[in-house]
Amino acid sequence: MKEGIQTTKLIFEEKKASVLFLWLFNLIFFSWDIFYYYFRPYFNGASLNDLRGGLGIWVYLLLVGVLILAIYYIKAGNIYIVKYLYIISFLIIDIMDNLVRYMGSTEHFATGNIVEVLLILFTPIFVNKRYFWTVTIGLIGKDLLLGLILGDLNVLMPVLIYITISALAYILLIRFYSYINSLTKVYDELRQKEKLAVIGQMAAAIGHEIRNPLSSLRGFTQLQQERYPNTNDYYPIMIQEIDRINSIVNDLMYIGKPRVIHFEKASIEEIIAYTLSITQQQAERQGVIVETTMAGPLPPLDCDEKQLKQVFINLIKNAIESMHESGRIKIKVNVLEKTKMSVSIKDEGCGIPDENILNIGEPFFTTKSSGTGLGLMVTNQIIKEHLGELNISSELGKGTRVEVVLPIIHRQRK
Ligand code: ADP
Ligand code: MG
Repeated sequence: MKEGIQTTKLIFEEKKASVLFLWLFNLIFFSWDIFYYYFRPYFNGASLNDLRGGLGIWVYLLLVGVLILAIYYIKAGNIYIVKYLYIISFLIIDIMDNLVRYMGSTEHFATGNIVEVLLILFTPIFVNKRYFWTVTIGLIGKDLLLGLILGDLNVLMPVLIYITISALAYILLIRFYSYINSLTKVYDELRQKEKLAVIGQMAAAIGHEIRNPLSSLRGFTQLQQERYPNTNDYYPIMIQEIDRINSIVNDLMYIGKPRVIHFEKASIEEIIAYTLSITQQQAERQGVIVETTMAGPLPPLDCDEKQLKQVFINLIKNAIESMHESGRIKIKVNVLEKTKMSVSIKDEGCGIPDENILNIGEPFFTTKSSGTGLGLMVTNQIIKEHLGELNISSELGKGTRVEVVLPIIHRQRK
């Protein structure tokens, strides 16, 4: 539906450009011709007999024919063809006109119609590179061809002028392109944000409703466990699973909604150590070995400790989950340029296929049967709020390296 509306709008733009082009082309062509072939000679005292040589009246008839054809195409909805129809007909008519006029005559070949300048200058309006090249190569090629056939060097001047104007038009065209690209990007981002805001509100509302019953469930389960310590082995698992639901609900409530972050000085060593203690069990179960290297004494980091723990838990869990049988995870902490802290987590797992790279971090994007696709979204958001960056590089089948770069000293956002 949306696509439909967008293409309709694009067709509408093309139509506007084409109609404007038709008006300008015909207006300029005919007034220039009248001025050049009728008024000018008249005022110079020439006789009206040998006015407009070449194809004479045929030029006008042909152009009116082209105009009728163009209007027909516009009405029939075949709008993209109009601009090509014009440039190609113009080239053919002009070549014939010039050949008839100059072949066998001693007159000097004069070219450089103002309408040709219009054709070139108008190319950026259509925002179409193929059309731009058709026009410039067509016009310049035509002049060079005529110069060659008629053996006249006079064509060089207009060719040089056309090259200059084309260069200008090309710059304009490129500017238009990049402007449109940024607009599209901004629009996409906005749409994404709106989508997230709606999902976020829903998730927050549902999450809120789920959390209360969940916490009483957890409380009662714990109570039961304490009351009958020897009867049921499943209580710890029940509590663990309830905690899992709780953490998923917490992640859900994060969508599209920045949380309040409390910046404090914290030790990155402690954060990593805590993270490892949480993920240790899972790592051992899968036979994964985790190696940590810290570069020398590390400065305290301005951050929200709780949130950062969440980030590293998510990343290390992903690293563990990417390896199906044993493997090694290398965690490295470095100080970059004295102002930034870099933590990289490298696994020897399955890697990320190229087609997934762009989707990673989108809410609910997951390739795991029991994944939520929320981990990296939350991670991204927390890192963004810390004004840091997340870099992911991955080689399919070899492993993935995820790097978190954070400013050591936090400056308040403007
Ligand atoms: P989840 O872990 O619930 O699937 P995430 O947001 O944490 O959600 O990750 C999204 C997806 O990104 C994963 O399903 C996986 O396909 C991919 N991914 C993330 N980290 C890694 C990694 N270290 N190695 C390979 N793939 C990864
Ligand atoms: Mg995950």
